[in-house]
Amino acid sequence: MLGPMVELQNVVKRFGQHTVVHDLSLHIQKGEFLTLLGPSGCGKTTTLRMIAGFEHPTSGKVKLDGEFVQDLPAYSRDVNTVFQSYALFPHLNAYENVAFGLRVKKVAREEIDQRVKQALRLVQLEEYASRKPEQLSGGQRQRIAIARALVNNPKVLLLDEPLGALDQKLRKQMQVELKHLQKQLGVTFVFVTHDQEEALTMSDRIAVMNKGVLEQVGTPADIYDRPATRFVAEFIGETNLLTGTVKLRDSRRMLIDCGGMEVAAASLQLPENEKVTVAIRPEKSALSLAPVETGIDQLVQLPGRLTERIYCGGITRTVVTLPGGIPFVAVEKTDQLLPVNEGDELFVNWQPEHGVVLTR
Ligand code: ATP
Repeated sequence: MLGPMVELQNVVKRFGQHTVVHDLSLHIQKGEFLTLLGPSGCGKTTTLRMIAGFEHPTSGKVKLDGEFVQDLPAYSRDVNTVFQSYALFPHLNAYENVAFGLRVKKVAREEIDQRVKQALRLVQLEEYASRKPEQLSGGQRQRIAIARALVNNPKVLLLDEPLGALDQKLRKQMQVELKHLQKQLGVTFVFVTHDQEEALTMSDRIAVMNKGVLEQVGTPADIYDRPATRFVAEFIGETNLLTGTVKLRDSRRMLIDCGGMEVAAASLQLPENEKVTVAIRPEKSALSLAPVETGIDQLVQLPGRLTERIYCGGITRTVVTLPGGIPFVAVEKTDQLLPVNEGDELFVNWQPEHGVVLTR
């Protein structure tokens, strides 16, 4: 049956005078891969630890599969945690590391053997069963740590920066493997990272946190294309931000005055003179040598001067300085660069609908 597997209801966590999680409410669905994303110190780990039962909320409630658990100790909750530091027992081989928890629980020997082998098969390390941690690579150790958590058949697997210690190539490979494994098993994953690219590639939904506050929850596409706040727009990917005030508005469009530049955007229910920020992704904008001939307010067109070109392989990031000295980053195909040099005038343009208007 579908429904929330994890529910946080108005959860607050204080350490002394310091509130590190503010009134956080979040539903995580059964079988979902949800990522808590945010900068260092924003409260991701504390939130995860409250789900695990390692921290007690100052106020608010935690539900797991329909039951309130905020007063239950960690060992009574049907969840397992995988940490960045794998915390494997160095003197035990891979098999015994995975079997350890089942032995403590006095599970029958044959059942242990069957479950350990299955867990090792899932992470594709059956042939490494007799190796000690020191004889395994970082990625293999992390897969053993994941097998050790999965062998308990938890309802929820909590993963705290599990790929943080791996080099970039292995990390990318493990992202794909972990995502496949999660889909195959259908276990609910709550994954913590500060790496926005990792969150975008792996998650069904992302919960973006900032200073203990949940800023936005949504699919990767929601978060990227329709950021709800300035923080989310800046934290995820690259974005250009223009600040201004609403000047005119009708049912379809509004006109925003950004320091003398007129920027059209899709209409929102906002009063005139409201202060707003318009966020435009570099890839949603284009550059031209002269204003593009269009009907009135078909395109936002701003004059600027080429300041810098940064070669990035197939694409080039082109920085244009707008009136008022505002930098704007656009992208060009490296093999189709406009014939302009540093200091030359050109125009930045985009469709009004591609500017996301933010009020906070
Ligand atoms: P990181 O990505 O660096 O791990 P995070 O988003 O996971 O950061 P938390 O570890 O949840 O952040 O910490 C949030 C805040 O709570 C930090 O300011 C941290 O110093 C503080 N904090 C965490 N645990 C405790 C504790 N036991 N006592 C006091 N303060 C704490």
